[in-house]
Amino acid sequence: MKNENLNSSHITWHQSNIKKKNRQKLNGHKSIMIWFTGLSGSGKSTIANALQNELFNKGIHCYLLDGDNLRYGINRNLTFSDEDRKENIRRTAEVGKLFVDAGIVVLAALISPYEEDRKKARSLFEKDEFFEVYINCSLQECEKRDPKGLYKKARLGEISQFTGISQPYEEPKNPDIQINTTNLSVKESVQKILPYIFKKLDLKNARKKE
Ligand code: ADP
Repeated sequence: MKNENLNSSHITWHQSNIKKKNRQKLNGHKSIMIWFTGLSGSGKSTIANALQNELFNKGIHCYLLDGDNLRYGINRNLTFSDEDRKENIRRTAEVGKLFVDAGIVVLAALISPYEEDRKKARSLFEKDEFFEVYINCSLQECEKRDPKGLYKKARLGEISQFTGISQPYEEPKNPDIQINTTNLSVKESVQKILPYIFKKLDLKNARKKE
């Protein structure tokens, strides 16, 4: 394992005897990162949660990394500046990579507004291990929903650096799947994503939850 950015040249990668594929075999399915991107209020957390329920109920080992929740802990020192958003995504992707290495299906829900950062996140994973879901919803609709009252605050100037209002959102050019929540319900959205995920998981003996 090479890393040009290491601060010390005295660190050596120690190989684990138990490999990702051993853990995947034990779990009965492959492990992947499902990365949700989209405007605030587009439905990332809601759909990721609903998808997690479906996976869990099928006996799939999964875990949701929600951008807001991570800012309570590992990312608590980060702001919404461009630089900190980059770091927010880098850390989330790295944590996700550990989960995937541990054989878990990871769902990450973050605005992740910049193509470059999402590309970097994808680059941490093997081919076919990273699945990008673009939760596409018009700014107008997101602002109408405003589930956390953030758009109102952003319009009043009480929140600076707000994606869609005072910071850009770069639409994914090549998402693995695009879900338009202006037209689709949460249930319909999950049903649209599920077949793609099942195909990737190579399900063998995942147990159905009682
Ligand atoms: P995000 O994680 O993208 O910021 P949230 O999931 O927190 O968004 O909030 C989305 C809000 O929009 C929720 O209150 C949800 O109930 C509502 N909503 C309405 N229609 C939909 C839909 N079709 N898909 C997802 N969320 C929807």
